[in-house]
Amino acid sequence: MKLTKASIFSKDQEQSVVDQSRFLDEVDNQGICPACGKKTLRTYAYIHESRLRKSLVTYVWCASCRRMKSWFGAFTLGIEFTDPLAHYSSAARTDMERDIDTFLRRLDHLWDRGELPQTKVAKNKR
Ligand SMILES: [Zn+2]
Repeated sequence: MKLTKASIFSKDQEQSVVDQSRFLDEVDNQGICPACGKKTLRTYAYIHESRLRKSLVTYVWCASCRRMKSWFGAFTLGIEFTDPLAHYSSAARTDMERDIDTFLRRLDHLWDRGELPQTKVAKNKR
């Protein structure tokens, strides 16, 4: 078993990580990791809804060296997208994200199964 612990990107790698976030990019969905150079930089994002507004929580992680970065921003996309973890409550998500190693392993597992990366949901249901 590989026991590589998750760690964060250095300050000067962070901007490259944010720029390469491949959320909903169907053609080229993995970026190049600024730390290890491998093309295994993956993105997962979900909508966090509070009473006041919708926010987008984004995770970018490298499946090779296990560095990660997450951030929280206003949800401005205005489109629907798939989320294999949508059935979790926000309390369950908070629990899940507390153990970042297990969380990233879960995301990699979803990636291997084809449930990630996420895709846009066509708006044809009325
Ligand atoms: Zn890496």
